[in-house]
Amino acid sequence: MNRVYNFGAGPAMLPTSVMEQARDEMLNWQGIGVSVVEISHRSKEFEVLLTETDELMRELAGLPEDFEILYMHGSAQMQFAAVPLNLLDLNPAHKAAYLETGNFAQLARKEASRFGNISIAASSEETGFDRIPAFDPASLDPDTSYVHLTSNNTIFGTRWHQFPDTGKIPLVADMTSELMSRKLNFEQFGLIFAGLQKNLGPSGMATVLVRKELLGHAMSQTPALLNYVTYQKNHSMPNTINTFAIYIMNLMLKWLRDQGGVAAIEQLNAKKAGLLYDIIDNNDFYIGSAHKDHRSHMNVTFNLADSTLDKKFLDEALVRGLYALKGHRLVGGIRASIYNAMPMEGCQELADFMKDFAKQNG
Ligand SMILES: *Cc1c(COP(=O)(O)O)cnc(C)c1O
Repeated sequence: MNRVYNFGAGPAMLPTSVMEQARDEMLNWQGIGVSVVEISHRSKEFEVLLTETDELMRELAGLPEDFEILYMHGSAQMQFAAVPLNLLDLNPAHKAAYLETGNFAQLARKEASRFGNISIAASSEETGFDRIPAFDPASLDPDTSYVHLTSNNTIFGTRWHQFPDTGKIPLVADMTSELMSRKLNFEQFGLIFAGLQKNLGPSGMATVLVRKELLGHAMSQTPALLNYVTYQKNHSMPNTINTFAIYIMNLMLKWLRDQGGVAAIEQLNAKKAGLLYDIIDNNDFYIGSAHKDHRSHMNVTFNLADSTLDKKFLDEALVRGLYALKGHRLVGGIRASIYNAMPMEGCQELADFMKDFAKQNG
């Protein structure tokens, strides 16, 4: 089987065992004689799958009962509109504060600006988004409806190691590139959303974990399919849900449980990232892009000191079965995305290659 180590940022690699199970069950799911993509989302079997997925999610995330789990169309960026439409009306001032730590944070802020009074509470744009900016929640207007941040900055390779305490003002987090990769204290959050395609499954859908008390305040112009209450009332099936995405997510959650859950994978993720950051730090050949104190455990970004070698690096990596290491088009350089599904061996293989390449070309 010609599987490579896939370092792509997303849609990202899924564990081989998950892909194999999906393959084996593709034509005949649960002995029904049809595929999971060929059955009604209203069927008993699918309803059971969806409920089981909720339970797995709640158990593995450690999600308290006062949070609702929703599955919505449109992946992460649809939430850039859904969040303001559902939450801005929490306060008549229609204010929201955005913490600008990268491209996705910026896109979210721009989308929200269509609907209310949006401000930038802190930004690291001046330093090329190489860090998480200092932010004092005391600087927020008390009539702010919510604060938005991107917990892991997929393109720039930074993350919030600690989350700001915004007190009574709900904290909203785009966790597309790290949900279920680290333990969370849900007390700190009002709403968390994530596109599935990095740690949870295929593209096209998002999961939204939202405090029940925040629901029911959508602005009057909110389209039905962007209104969280529509999903809450219909077990996320006001219309036809992406049945295949739920199925793969269900397999991914079971796989995560088999790995020991979030706490265990968080430790493994730290080791995987550490292996690569060690090489970057101990070799003048490589230059890390992110400030050391704010480094992501999911996306390791770096440059070659001599960027004319980038192409050679990528070509030779591919020959060794190390795929999709090219940095995002906005920043260039190299990016190794090492989500939950990337095994330690893949990171070890990349670390060995980086050492060899530096020796031969340094
Ligand atoms: C990948 C990613 C997105 C992408 O949004 P889609 O709508 O799912 O394409 C958004 N936010 C973050 C933090 C991401 O990593």
